[in-house]
Amino acid sequence: MIRMAGVDKHFGDLHVLRDIDLEVARGQVVVVLGPSGSGKSTLCRTINRLEPVDSGTIEVDGVALPAEGRDLAALRADVGMVFQAFNLFGHKTILENVTLAPQKVRRAGRADAEKEAMALLERVGIANQRDKYPSQLSGGQQQRAAIARALAMRPKVMLFDEPTSALDPEMVQEVLDTMSGLAKDGMTMLVVTHEMGFARRAAHRVVFMSDGEIVEDSTPEAFFTSPTSDRARDFLGKIL
Ligand code: ATP
Ligand code: MG
Repeated sequence: MIRMAGVDKHFGDLHVLRDIDLEVARGQVVVVLGPSGSGKSTLCRTINRLEPVDSGTIEVDGVALPAEGRDLAALRADVGMVFQAFNLFGHKTILENVTLAPQKVRRAGRADAEKEAMALLERVGIANQRDKYPSQLSGGQQQRAAIARALAMRPKVMLFDEPTSALDPEMVQEVLDTMSGLAKDGMTMLVVTHEMGFARRAAHRVVFMSDGEIVEDSTPEAFFTSPTSDRARDFLGKIL
């Protein structure tokens, strides 16, 4: 579903992605781990082309990433993204947040968009918040609204970049549970997170990045019990 081959990227002199080869099969959940500054967010952002790459290829569902134009909008519809900051539209209700893009981008009718949005809000457990504004919701509820909004575009892939890092501890689990539900339903997911419990339980694979390189790519079991590189051992020693 996602296929990256030989991807390199620099920010000026900084080589942030080094010869990245990464495949995420349909229905797979891949968790990306690594120290701060190792290139995890940049990796995510190249997949929906928020960041262009210097060289290499990226395909989503068999289609090479387009450089610009209408194809780029189609790509962004296929690749849902949820960030650390919830990025909801503050002056719109939760229901409006979820129905806006389908109406604009997919040309869905309002009634259909609302029906689908309500099903998604049910799925993430906040249907009763539909008429509130983002500031009236808890952080966990806002992040679940952001997930519903991304799903409303019917993406083929979902990218999560530290979706729980900005949340109060008691709200982390509800968001992780929502993500686990998505994974169980067969969504293809690339997840940057520091939640090792989620990585162990929900991931099919763990990818460990360091200094812009993929250093390990293995099962959670193998990664957590017997990492093969010093860099991964060092990382695990600091966080576990
Ligand atoms: P964190 O765990 O802190 O979120 P990360 O692994 O997501 O880190 P990135 O955000 O991908 O790391 O950043 C990788 C490197 O690229 C860092 O050294 C960062 O300072 C640098 N970088 C990121 N974005 C830019 C940019 N737009 N311009 C210049 N340098 C950047
Ligand atoms: Mg990051």
